[in-house]
Amino acid sequence: MVTEQLNDSYDVVVIGGGAAGLNGALMLARARRSVLVIDAGQPRNAPADGVHGLFAREGVPPSELLARGREEVRGYGGHIIDGEVVAAHRGDRTAGPLAHAESPRQVATADHESADASAGFTVALADGRTVRARRLLVTTGLVDELPEIDGLKARWGRDAIHCPYCHGWEVRDRAIGVIGNGPMAIHLALLFRQWSEDVVFFQHTMSPPTAEQAEQLAARGIPVIAGAVSAVETEDDRLTGVRLADGTRVARTALAVPTRMVARAGLLAGLGLHPVEHPSGAGEYIPAEALTGKTEVPGVWTAGNVTDLSAQVGNAAAAGAMAGAHINADLVNEETADAVAAYRAATEPVAVH
Ligand SMILES: Cc1cc2nc3c(=O)[nH]c(=O)nc-3n(C[C@H](O)[C@H](O)[C@H](O)COP(=O)(O)OP(=O)(O)OC[C@H]3O[C@@H](n4cnc5c(N)ncnc54)[C@H](O)[C@@H]3O)c2cc1C
Repeated sequence: MVTEQLNDSYDVVVIGGGAAGLNGALMLARARRSVLVIDAGQPRNAPADGVHGLFAREGVPPSELLARGREEVRGYGGHIIDGEVVAAHRGDRTAGPLAHAESPRQVATADHESADASAGFTVALADGRTVRARRLLVTTGLVDELPEIDGLKARWGRDAIHCPYCHGWEVRDRAIGVIGNGPMAIHLALLFRQWSEDVVFFQHTMSPPTAEQAEQLAARGIPVIAGAVSAVETEDDRLTGVRLADGTRVARTALAVPTRMVARAGLLAGLGLHPVEHPSGAGEYIPAEALTGKTEVPGVWTAGNVTDLSAQVGNAAAAGAMAGAHINADLVNEETADAVAAYRAATEPVAVH
C-alpha cells in the first residue's frame, strides 16, 4: 500500500468520497487546487450489485466505480484518506500536518460566529487527527431509515428496494409488494406498476388511501392489503413473501420500501449548519443553492444526497462537479482581491513632503 504524504492544510477538504465527493475532488484537483478527500467508506448503494441508469458505466459495481474515481483524483495529485470526520469548525485549531488534537469531539461544540470564509476551517477525524482547509465540500450522503419489519434489513438493496430507476428493470414482471411507509408510498406503487402488472400495496402503518388514491390504485389493478407487515420471508436467500401481524402470508418476490432519508450532517453542527425537514416529508436535508451547492455558511458547499435526497449517482456526481467549479471560482475571487490589494499597495505613489 502506498502511503501518501499529506499536507497540514488544503485549499479544499471534501468530506465524503462517494460519487459527489469524488467528482468534486476531480474538478478541484484538475483546477490545480490542493484537495483532500476524507471518506468513511459507506456509500449508500453499497448493498447493490450494480449502478444502473448511468450511461457508459451501466451496471458497474458501486465499489468498482468509486475505486476508479479515487484513482482519477489521485492521478491529478488529489489526496484521499479513509476516515470519519466527526466535526468541523471555523478557524485554525490544528497543530501540524494531520495533527492529533486533544479532543476532536470538543471541536463539535466550537463557535461559528465568524462568517468570514477566509478564516478557513479545521476538520477533526474520529481517530484524533485534524486538518485545515480554506473551503469545505460536504458530500456525506444520507442514511435510509427502514421501517421496523423483521428480516427486512438483510434484504435491503437486493430484493427489498426503494427506487424503480435503480432496480425496476431487474424486478420487471415479478410479484412486487410496496410497503406503505411515508408520503411517497402510493406514488411508488403507481411507479412500480410500470415494471410489473403484479403489484400489491401493503397499507402497513399508513392510514387508508384517500378516495382519489384508492381509485388510482384500483384503476391500475393494485390491490390494497390492510394490516401491518411484521416480517419478510425467505427461502435459499431469496425473498418469497411477507407475513402480516395477523399471521396472513402474502407471496411476493420483491418489495419496494420507501425509506425515511436523513442527511448525514451531525458533523456540521459546529458550523451552525443543521438538517431541516424536506418539504416532501420524505426526510431531512441540508439546504443549499440548487445549482452550486453553496450553503448559508460562507465557505461551505454541499453536493449529492446530503442536500438532494432524490439524487442518483449521475446527479450526485454532476452536483459535485458543479460545486467543485464554484469553490474554485470563489478561491479565484479571493486570490484576485488579495492580489489587487497587494498591487495597489506596491504601485501607490509614495507621498513626498
Ligand atoms: C440500495 C440502493 C441502490 C441504489 N442503486 C442506484 C442505481 O442503480 N443507480 C443510481 O444512480 N443510484 C442508485 N442509488 C442511489 C445512490 O446510492 C446515490 O445516488 C449516491 O450514493 C449518492 O452519492 P453521494 O456521493 O451523495 O453519497 P454516497 O454515495 O452515500 O457517499 C457518501 C460517502 O460519504 C461518506 N461519509 C459519510 N459521513 C462521513 C463522515 N462523517 N466522514 C467521512 N466520510 C463520511 C460515506 O461513508 C460515503 O462513502 C441506490 C441507492 C440505494 C440505497
